[in-house]
Amino acid sequence: MMIFAEVLLPLPIDHPFTYSVPAKLEDRVQKGGRVLVPFGHRRLTGCIVGFSQQPDPQIKIKEIIDVLDETPALNPSLLELTRWVSHYYFAPWGEVLKTVLPGKILPVARRFLRITEEGQRALREGRVRGEQERAILSLLSARSRMSQDSLWKRLGPSSGKGPSLTVLLEKGWIEWEWSNPPLPGEGEEGRISLRGEGPSSGPVSLTPAQREALDQIVETLERGKFRVFLLQGVTGSGKTELYLRAISAALRQGRQVIFLVPEIVLTPRIIEQLKTRFPERVALLHSGLSSAERLREWHRVRNAKVDIVLGTRSAIFAPFTRLGLIIIDEEHDSSYKQEDIPRYNGRDVAIMRAKLTDSVVILGSATPSLESYFNVQRRNYHLLKLPHRVRGLPLPPVEIVDLRRERPTGSSPSLFSGVLLEAMEQRLMRSEQTLLLLNRRGYAPFIQCIDCGFVFQCLNCDLSLTYHRTDRTLRCHYCGLRLKVSDSCPQCKGVRLLPFGLGTQRVEEELREMFRGARIARLDRDIARRQGNINSILEGLREGKIDILVGTQLIAKGHDYPRITLVGVISADLSLNIPDFRAAERTYQLITQVAGRAGRDNLGGEVIVQTYHPHHYALQAARHHDYEGFCERELEYRHRLGYPPFTRIIVIRIEGPNQEKVQEIAHYWGELLQQARKGMGEQVEILGPTPAIRLKIRNKYRWQILLKSPRSKLLSDLIRSVLVKYDSSACKNPNIRINIDVDPLDLL
Ligand code: ADP
Ligand code: ZN
Repeated sequence: MMIFAEVLLPLPIDHPFTYSVPAKLEDRVQKGGRVLVPFGHRRLTGCIVGFSQQPDPQIKIKEIIDVLDETPALNPSLLELTRWVSHYYFAPWGEVLKTVLPGKILPVARRFLRITEEGQRALREGRVRGEQERAILSLLSARSRMSQDSLWKRLGPSSGKGPSLTVLLEKGWIEWEWSNPPLPGEGEEGRISLRGEGPSSGPVSLTPAQREALDQIVETLERGKFRVFLLQGVTGSGKTELYLRAISAALRQGRQVIFLVPEIVLTPRIIEQLKTRFPERVALLHSGLSSAERLREWHRVRNAKVDIVLGTRSAIFAPFTRLGLIIIDEEHDSSYKQEDIPRYNGRDVAIMRAKLTDSVVILGSATPSLESYFNVQRRNYHLLKLPHRVRGLPLPPVEIVDLRRERPTGSSPSLFSGVLLEAMEQRLMRSEQTLLLLNRRGYAPFIQCIDCGFVFQCLNCDLSLTYHRTDRTLRCHYCGLRLKVSDSCPQCKGVRLLPFGLGTQRVEEELREMFRGARIARLDRDIARRQGNINSILEGLREGKIDILVGTQLIAKGHDYPRITLVGVISADLSLNIPDFRAAERTYQLITQVAGRAGRDNLGGEVIVQTYHPHHYALQAARHHDYEGFCERELEYRHRLGYPPFTRIIVIRIEGPNQEKVQEIAHYWGELLQQARKGMGEQVEILGPTPAIRLKIRNKYRWQILLKSPRSKLLSDLIRSVLVKYDSSACKNPNIRINIDVDPLDLL
C-alpha cells in the first residue's frame, strides 16, 4: 500500500501538505525527518509531521523527491513544541518551523529553464513554428538559464503562457534545471572559534548560599523531574558560578544543557568560562552567525557532538534529544520576546520545553520579572536566593539626586549634577572607571525650529527624527530612515534649528568638553552594530584604557570589571515616563542592573541616580536594594488595575496603509469580540479599539484592541472563534494585517 506523508513547509501556512512516498524511500521516511519536495517552481525542504491514509483521489499528489535525514531533525518533543508555539502564539505552524530550523537547514532549490543542444539547432535551422516558441528559444539561447517568471516577464503580458512551454519541453528543445540543490550533508561540521577573554580563574569554593542552591538543583536533576527554579541573586552574588556547577551536574547525569543569554556579544566572559570548563563540548547558536556557521553548529548539536548550547532566544530550539537543564540568564530581559512572527517569549517556551522533556529550568536574575516572582508565590516555581555578593563585598550605596534642586551653574543647565561631577572627578584622579547610563541613543530626540516650532518628522512613521551629530543625520529609530540635516527650516526658512532633549552622543560630547584628556567611550546600538567595536570597548574597560563609558542599557548587562567604582544614571525619568504599565518595573530593573556594575572588587563602589521624581517607589526600592519591597508594592498596583501577573494580556493589532480602513476593521473586530464575549461575564475585559500610541510605523497605521483575563485559555478561545468569523466574513480586507501578540511586552 502506498504511504502518504504530511510535510510541513517553511511557509506562512498553518497546515502540512500531503505527499506520496515512493517505494524506494519507504524505509527512510520518518516523523520529524527532513525531506525535499516539489512546490510550485521550487523544491522546498520540509519536515514530516505525520503519515496519512489515501487522501481524496481527486487531488493530484506529488512525490517526495528525497529524504535528507537519518536522524530526525525534529525529535518528537521538539515537534510537539513547535505545535504548542504555533497554537499558543497564534503563529502559522510553518513559520514556527522556519524559526526552529532556520536558514540553510531547510534549503530551497529553484527551477530554471535552459535551452538544449537540440533546441539551439532547431532555432538555427529555422525549424521553430510558433512565434512564441521562437521568442522563448531566442531568449534562452542568449543566456545560460532563466526562471519561468522572468521569462514571462520578458515576453510581456500578452503571452499565453502554458502551451508553448509544454510543446518545447516535449520536443526536448528546452529542459528544466535546478539551482544547485543545497542538500545539507550529514557530518558537515566545522568549528567556530569562541572568542573569550584569556584564561579565567579556576573553580572557587562556593559560598554557603551557592552551596545550598546547588544542592537543591542537583537533587532535582538526579530525580529527573520537571521543575523551575527562580534564582534571585543580587548582582555579583556568583550566579554564573552556580550555573557552571549545575551544568557539570547535568552532564554527569548524561543530560544536555541549553544556556540562554539576552545578548551574546556582550557576554564574552560566559563564553570563555564555558569553554575552559567544558572544552570541546559547547556550541554557539545565535543570530550573529552566518547561515553556513549556523548550519555547522546545528549539525554538531543534532549529532550530539556537543552537550551544551549557549545562545540567544532561538537557541531554545536546539535539537538535543537528552535535554536535562535549561538556564535562562537575566530572565527578566525583554529581548527574550520576539517581536516578529512567531511572537514567542524564549523564557516561556523554555518552560514548556522543559515540561515536555522532564528537564530542570533555572531562571536567574538580580531582578526577576514580576511574573516569575508571582509564580513563586503561587508555588509554580521554586525560589533560590543569593542575598549577598561573594567575598563579603557590599552592594554599592545608591544616592538619588533631586534635579529640581540643582541650580544651573552656567547659562544652561548641565547634564551632570554637582554631586555626579565631583564623583567623576574623583574617579579620574584615582584612575578608576565610571559608567554613565542614558537609555537613548543619538544626540537629541528631536530638532526644532525656534522661530516657527517646526519639528522634523519621519516620512514613514509618526515620530520625530533623532538627531545624530556624528554624521549630521536625522534618523528614524523605527524604520531606519536617514536624512541629511538641512541648514534652514523647511517651513519658515529660518536658520535657528536647535536640538532638544538628550541622547548618548550629547552626553559624550559634554564629557569631552568637561574632562579634556580623559579617555571617553560610548556604547549603544549605533556602536554595537560592529562586533569589533564592542570587543575593543570591553577590552578597553578590562585593560583600564577607558576612564568613562557612556551608554544605553547595553552597559547594564552582566559586565564584571573591578575598576568600575562609579555608576551614574543621567536621567531615571526617561524610562519612568514611558506610558506602559511596566514602566516602574523596567526602571527598577535597569537601575538595579546598572548599579550592579559598580564596586565588584575591593575598591568599593557608588551609584548616583539623577531624577525629577526622587520619591518614586521604583527608585527608592533600587536605592535600598529592596527587590521584595518593590515587588509587593508593584503587585498591589497591578492587582488594583487588573494587569499581569494577575491577568494575561493579548493585544490584537490591526495594521494597514489606509487609516480609515484600519479603523473600520478595528471597530469590526471590536464588535465581533464583544459578541463572542457574551456569556463570559466579567472574565474577559476588552479595551479598545483605540489608535496605538505609535499610530503610524513604516507607513502602516495601527489600531489595537487589548484583551485581559485571569484565564488565558478563555482569551485564546475567544480570539480563535473571532478569527474564524473574520476569515469567512465579507468585511475581511487583504490589505489589512491582524497581528496577534500574546503576553506582549511592547504595548506602544
Ligand atoms: P552575578 O552573575 O551574580 O552578577 P558573577 O557570577 O559574575 O555574579 O560573579 C561575580 C564574581 O565573583 C566573578 O568574578 C566570579 O568569578 C566570582 N565568584 C563567584 N563565586 C565565587 C565564590 N564562591 N567565591 C569567590 N568568588 C566567586
Ligand atoms: Zn520612520
